[in-house]
Amino acid sequence: MNVNEVMAELERKHPGESEYLQAVREVLESIEEVYNEHPEFEKAKIVERMVEPDRIFTFRVTWVDDKGEIQTNLGYRVQFNSAIGPYKGGLRFHKAVNPSMLKFLGFEQTFKNALTTLPMGGAKGGSDFDPTGKSDAEIMRFCQAFMLELWRNIGVDTDVPAGDVGVGGREIGFLNGMYQKLAREYHTGVLTGKGMTWGGSILRPEATGFGALYFVEHMLAKAGKSLKGATIALSGFGNVAWGAAKKATELGAKVIAISGPDGVVYNPNGMTDEKINYMLELRASNRNIVAPFAEKFTDATFTPGKKAWSVKCDIALPCAFQNELNEADAKELLANGTWCVAEVSNMGCTPEAIHTFQAAGILFAPGKAVNAGGVATSGLEMTQNCMHISWSGKEVDEKLHFIMESIHEACVRYGEQKDGTINYVKGANIAGFMKVAQAMLEQGVI
Ligand code: GLU
Repeated sequence: MNVNEVMAELERKHPGESEYLQAVREVLESIEEVYNEHPEFEKAKIVERMVEPDRIFTFRVTWVDDKGEIQTNLGYRVQFNSAIGPYKGGLRFHKAVNPSMLKFLGFEQTFKNALTTLPMGGAKGGSDFDPTGKSDAEIMRFCQAFMLELWRNIGVDTDVPAGDVGVGGREIGFLNGMYQKLAREYHTGVLTGKGMTWGGSILRPEATGFGALYFVEHMLAKAGKSLKGATIALSGFGNVAWGAAKKATELGAKVIAISGPDGVVYNPNGMTDEKINYMLELRASNRNIVAPFAEKFTDATFTPGKKAWSVKCDIALPCAFQNELNEADAKELLANGTWCVAEVSNMGCTPEAIHTFQAAGILFAPGKAVNAGGVATSGLEMTQNCMHISWSGKEVDEKLHFIMESIHEACVRYGEQKDGTINYVKGANIAGFMKVAQAMLEQGVI
């Protein structure tokens, strides 16, 4: 394989799909060496097949807003790869959603799910629906209209969606209610991230953030460092940032910044239970602003228009959106002495930012390893649904711990360099790739 040739062909077929092309290039660059040691992969054209989604469903979603006006959005489901199990991945509701974004996310999901040790293929979906400023009733009507189209293409053993940006427990509830009504199937497992009384798994809401901190713990231990007393800046204030803030605080770190599209909140005294719970209220308000945090807690200050990366911190955790940390941000963090960056959002850093961190020799880990605890716990939710049982919080947490440790080990196995340091990007990409490639090879040309 020659990465530039594969990329030129992909760009020809998908011109201008920048996020998708960026995600594919990152993986291909890190697996090139290993791939070329396996002529059987080359012969079976594994890379050429793997970079294209299996199929994409695109549909119109029409609904009526509170003023009685008719609104039309676009809906999608990208079923990317099913070599190791049924399609699995979240739904994103955000005004910028388009096929490029969902293809990048579906591609990433395929490798991430492979890393979890569980049998799940990769998918992603969503809509350009913007939840900002919408009432609960509007969100319900939108979710119902979205499911009116999607339901025929998903199923317990075929494709299991979950949440992502703009889709949390409330949306999963509305989507699941409509699915059951349309399909007349009352199995609990067609969506994950469900409520605790109707098939949800304990710890699923926390799992992405908790898993990320378990991964960071292992990464720091391997480098002879610890979370205790470390200062953390994280971006976002939604479900993922909430779980990360909660676990980081529990493990003895101080979360000194959270952020939103409107600016950054500097929180020098760290988090309390009240502050962490307030993050949930902020998200549920549908206003998509973080400023009220500093109005409610007077020891915190809000600066409009600034990112979390302007705050001096030991550890930076992007928890919001792709490419939210660029080269200039990376340089600012380094100048302020940051020594660890772990992506909790999918592809949170631009390629230039990653190169800047790697060149500086600080600890860096990619989203597909760090945030895999979310989908892994979705996998645990599917298992509980199939078995018609509910595990205790302790059982789920132990399994999540084990999975994050396994992912860390896989990154070390494939990413250890001659000088003993770990290239986590390479490690995660090769580990995920090898599993999916082997599964595709063994199942023939289909
Ligand atoms: N959206 C999450 C992710 O990016 C979770 C997906 C899921 O639980 O299926 O991995």
